Amino acid sequence: MAGTRWIAETLFDQLGFRMSYRVVKVLHETRTAHQHVLLFEQPFFGKMLMLDGATQISKRDEFIYQEMMAHVPLLAHGRARDVLIVGGGDCGIAEEVLKHRSVRRLTQVEIDPQVVAFAKKHFPEFAKPVFADRRFENVIGDGMAYVRDAKRRFDVIIVDSTDPQGPGKILYSDKFYAACKRCLNAGGVLVTQNGVPFLQPRELVSSIAKFRRLFADATCFVAAIPTYVGGHMAMGFASDDRRLRRTAARTLAARHRRAGGFATKYWTPEVHAAAFALPRFIADALAEAGTGKPRRR
Ligand code: SAM
Repeated sequence: MAGTRWIAETLFDQLGFRMSYRVVKVLHETRTAHQHVLLFEQPFFGKMLMLDGATQISKRDEFIYQEMMAHVPLLAHGRARDVLIVGGGDCGIAEEVLKHRSVRRLTQVEIDPQVVAFAKKHFPEFAKPVFADRRFENVIGDGMAYVRDAKRRFDVIIVDSTDPQGPGKILYSDKFYAACKRCLNAGGVLVTQNGVPFLQPRELVSSIAKFRRLFADATCFVAAIPTYVGGHMAMGFASDDRRLRRTAARTLAARHRRAGGFATKYWTPEVHAAAFALPRFIADALAEAGTGKPRRR
């Protein structure tokens, strides 16, 4: 189609492939102090946000990732009151978290004010209810610095970051995870965006190895998200309470009702419980991450 622009995701260039999207209209393109931001309208996926050549969100499939990153840790925990989101500037996960009646306070620490400004303008269905909610606290700043200096403690920390490149790199470090652990209340839960194991196995294995040096229990749960190409998306899960990830679907259903029984398009108690059942190649990769405990000589 002459004159039609196609935009390619360059995240997997080193693997020699690109996912390309035909563009109806570029809504915004700029380089901020932190990253290259590209927002465009796509005929099938709707509005799409790319940061530094990596797809962050598409209007058509965002519900899968946002629901799982919010409801799995909160309902596994079961009585989360104070929640921290690191990154998440599109406000999609914040909107899901605030559906939980038990949540007393939600703090979001996003490094790039322009991403939040875009969310208010281009994703009002997320940003409007979030910014209208008095439980929500919007902090513009580096997530590493925030958890390093924080006095407050949280029941759940959700790291909705970019991939380990640019400003997001520090959010995959030992010192970041150790600072997150310090900011968690006893029995608290940490969940992280950990890439697509089929294409980015190192990203997942390295995070889980770091979790295992800090927490009694560390693994991941998975979901398939069409615009996060490459099969299963892995979301890291760590806690000192080994029971949480094994919570039965019946208990999750009761907790969901208590939380307000809000409508979902992907999350169900059964999908939640099953998301921790990992395909062999991912389970084998996690085994590589070791126990985190020093090996007996
Ligand atoms: N769901 C997306 C994904 O999986 O790739 C992530 C979406 S969210 C838009 C990612 C956000 O993390 C971006 O807005 C980016 O600015 C923010 N971010 C990156 N590094 C950060 C840091 N060090 N501290 C706080 N926010 C950061």
